[in-house]
Amino acid sequence: MLAGYAVMVENSRGRRIAEPRHAYRNDFQRDRDRVLHARAFRRLENKTQVFTGRYSDHFRNRLTHTIEVQQISRTIAAALDLNVDLTEALALVHDIGHPPFGHAGEKALDTAMRKHGEYFDHNLHALRIVEDFELRYIAFRGLNLTFEVREGIIKHSHDYTQAEHPELAEYLLDQRPPLEAQLIDLTDEIAYTTADMDDGFESRILDIEPLRKIAIFERFYRDVEAQHPTARRKLKFNETLKRIFDRLVTDLIENTRQRIADSGVRSLEEVRKFPERIAAFSPEVDAERAEAKAFLYKNLYFSEALQAEKVDAELIVGGLFGHFMTHPESLPSSYQDKEKVDSRARVVCDYIAGMTDNFIQRNYERLLSDEAPAEE
Ligand code: MG
Repeated sequence: MLAGYAVMVENSRGRRIAEPRHAYRNDFQRDRDRVLHARAFRRLENKTQVFTGRYSDHFRNRLTHTIEVQQISRTIAAALDLNVDLTEALALVHDIGHPPFGHAGEKALDTAMRKHGEYFDHNLHALRIVEDFELRYIAFRGLNLTFEVREGIIKHSHDYTQAEHPELAEYLLDQRPPLEAQLIDLTDEIAYTTADMDDGFESRILDIEPLRKIAIFERFYRDVEAQHPTARRKLKFNETLKRIFDRLVTDLIENTRQRIADSGVRSLEEVRKFPERIAAFSPEVDAERAEAKAFLYKNLYFSEALQAEKVDAELIVGGLFGHFMTHPESLPSSYQDKEKVDSRARVVCDYIAGMTDNFIQRNYERLLSDEAPAEE
């Protein structure tokens, strides 16, 4: 039984092109499956989350991160009587617009675009993928997803304004997204904050003593030490992380449940019209989450250890972007055709954004190795 404020699949605003109902799956289940079967989805396996493949085969990549977001989101959506099918579809699609090389790649692509008066935004790119780039069906381009999934892609993590994005007007930009979409941004934070601590520890960039400066880590670590003084260090770390993870998820469920009650919303319409997002951590846990995030920025994402890869990402993304701008004939013919409707910069950006880490590396070596400085 879904809550009154959940998205009901029977009330979906539907697909751009009407399709007959499926015998065994509702429209949100079909959308979840369409995302799962998309080529852009499979490419997530070879896209960096934080650590490139150089570090380890068992660190997160964008695909395993996405599956973790899906798992957390399912639990939270079910606990709040929200639509789990829609939540899963939104979780699976939430990072599909990310370029190769993680945030460094994203930044490099945006920097390259700004030189041409444009910019790169991974949510807008994700919408282009599901609306246009995926070619699986005879009847239409893209995946022909329901309104609610497309809306979630645009609105889960960022509030776009009508003035800046008139092309997105259909997504009700003056209203809040449904709770299913609101959750995704927060579960994304839970997933990457805990996972990056884990991979950061495994990579030896982060160690227990410095991590103990984070209040939430210290509190649980002290408990674990008291309860299991002779356990192996790594297992104590794992147990601490598990408790942090559980604390964040439990708080998000309970605080959101309380905020739903306090707000008095009973319908999806009321969620949409409410002046602010209702899904949220409690203020205390949000402060702890923010502290952990700030720690990770300073000690992991911007650490000296990961610096070399950022430089590589900028060199490769920036170098290839420049190459395709001056040699559009080296783009695949399907992309050359797109210049009839989009600027060359946008076409080049779309092509590069779709690349995996391996594919962009190979292209760079093939097209630009002569121009590139010699590798050590
Ligand atoms: Mg994510």
